[in-house]
Amino acid sequence: MDDFKQIVVDAGVKMCQRSLTVGTWGNISYRDPESGNIFLTPSGMDYQKLGTNDIVVYNAKGEIIEGQRKPSIEWSMHLAIFAAREDVNAIIHTHPTYSTAFAITDTSIPPVSEDFVQIVGDSVECAEYALPGTKELGEYAVKALASKNAVLLTSHGTLCVGPNMDFAFKVCDVVEKTAYLYLMSKNLGEARIIPPADIKAMQDFVKTKYGQ
Ligand SMILES: [Zn+2]
Repeated sequence: MDDFKQIVVDAGVKMCQRSLTVGTWGNISYRDPESGNIFLTPSGMDYQKLGTNDIVVYNAKGEIIEGQRKPSIEWSMHLAIFAAREDVNAIIHTHPTYSTAFAITDTSIPPVSEDFVQIVGDSVECAEYALPGTKELGEYAVKALASKNAVLLTSHGTLCVGPNMDFAFKVCDVVEKTAYLYLMSKNLGEARIIPPADIKAMQDFVKTKYGQ
């Protein structure tokens, strides 16, 4: 159990180091693919001071089985995403500057760069608005996330997922970089949207031929 708790504790520190959020906002979870147990950050605590004892543990049925702290208010969103996506074992919800600019204008991030379409998806869509901490927010996030690896929470922030924590961080970085680049490209002209056939070719390449 402690190893999985440590993954979440370390991810909290990393999220702050990368300026992906401010203060105690954002929340992170990890699922042990074998037991199905889910490890979630507590509500409103300083990420730099979190210890493994502060992590809240859910079983695969969504019942709290360990932890003295109140879980993140977004616990139902995390559980809903794990329930909907068997391939996801790490979820990072943050309030980063550039992608949140899209979220507060209810604007999706289009497929403008290769790394984005390869590891994030065809686009990042805005979920229908719901208040933080509500069951609806989780439902809308699942719907807009679909089979992609990131979703924008309207008027709120960004949520990135992956099969493991490192991958989820890579998604966070690429989403934030692409949001920044797309906004910058507006100064130069129109960004070229990658056509669907090329997106598919790149996604197939990553699945079958990329890497060693
Ligand atoms: Zn948030």
